[in-house]
Amino acid sequence: MTSENTQQPNPEQIRRAPKVLLHDHLDGGLRPATIVELARESGYEGLPETDPTALGTWFRAAADSGSLERYLETFAHTCAVLQTAQALRRVAAECAEDLAADGVVYAEVRYAPEQHLEQGLTLEQVVEAVNEGFREGERRARAAGHRIRVGALLTAMRHAARSLEIAELANRYRDLGVAGFDIAGAEAGFPPTRHLDAFEYLKRENNHFTIHAGEAFGLPSIWQALQWCGADRLGHGVRIIDDIHVSEDGAIKLGRLASYVRDKRIPLELCPTSNLQTGAASSYVEHPIGLLRKLHFRATVNTDNRLMSGTSMSREFEHLVSTFGYTLDDMQWFTVNAMKSAFIPFDERLAMINDVIKPGYAELKAEWLFRQTAVG
Ligand SMILES: [Zn+2]
Repeated sequence: MTSENTQQPNPEQIRRAPKVLLHDHLDGGLRPATIVELARESGYEGLPETDPTALGTWFRAAADSGSLERYLETFAHTCAVLQTAQALRRVAAECAEDLAADGVVYAEVRYAPEQHLEQGLTLEQVVEAVNEGFREGERRARAAGHRIRVGALLTAMRHAARSLEIAELANRYRDLGVAGFDIAGAEAGFPPTRHLDAFEYLKRENNHFTIHAGEAFGLPSIWQALQWCGADRLGHGVRIIDDIHVSEDGAIKLGRLASYVRDKRIPLELCPTSNLQTGAASSYVEHPIGLLRKLHFRATVNTDNRLMSGTSMSREFEHLVSTFGYTLDDMQWFTVNAMKSAFIPFDERLAMINDVIKPGYAELKAEWLFRQTAVG
């Protein structure tokens, strides 16, 4: 056996390996049991199931329908139970705890403050409740022996008209737990250029943002996000594959936009399982991440919505390891890519890479070598 395939990590090593997550939605990652409890406490009667296991299954099935619009419907339920500061704090704390238990050492978790105002919270109260929850979750994780740092990304909905207000909110809380800004929601009919004032404002403030683009919609959406809006990262960006041409003899030619994305090291927040559910890719083996990794794009691995996709960072990597034969080196490459692309300051990113990520992988690789020697 070659070292390439023997260094394939098993599920337990994948879980222990340090991982970095840049694209995860707070309202897409609730524990089913928490949704049931919050619904009961708040008197919300719209849940399709009240047994946590059945509810978890329902979310995955609804999200499996193959259309982004249908997928987004599932969020009506999670947002319905996230309308008080107490609920937001609880869900944010559990999010940090769950990610830490899965071996995530750094995460940027996003949510749209404007979707949590139905019972009278202000935008500021929403942000403060979520921040408190993340800090609480970090503390509980540390007590359980896991170190994690969680930053928030504030999302504006692309069909709404509050993006400038949310961008200003993100800027106001930038040193208080908010790492950046994002826009999300149905791509078709709602181009990111509708929100130019928000992006221009953030650029003038030297702040960071990512844009959901190139998921349901193709190259024009990616092009607008980069060249009109100035996005630092692409939320998904998976359709960049449409600008990469593989001829029958295996020769690969990048179009102008794909070249630009690779040359400028634009991070792609790839979410394999989510893409299969929304139809942005047809199978793991055909998922563009395989080719994008080979071509050295700045590819990262993400969960998107852990509840709707029944996934976690470890599960995403398990799929990739079994589909593409990825090794610990590949996992480290994706993880360092993600850490380099985070919205925290450069020196802090570097410290995470040198003090947490590299030593973590070195330890796993040493264990593997020790085991090989012992067997031999
Ligand atoms: Zn997303």
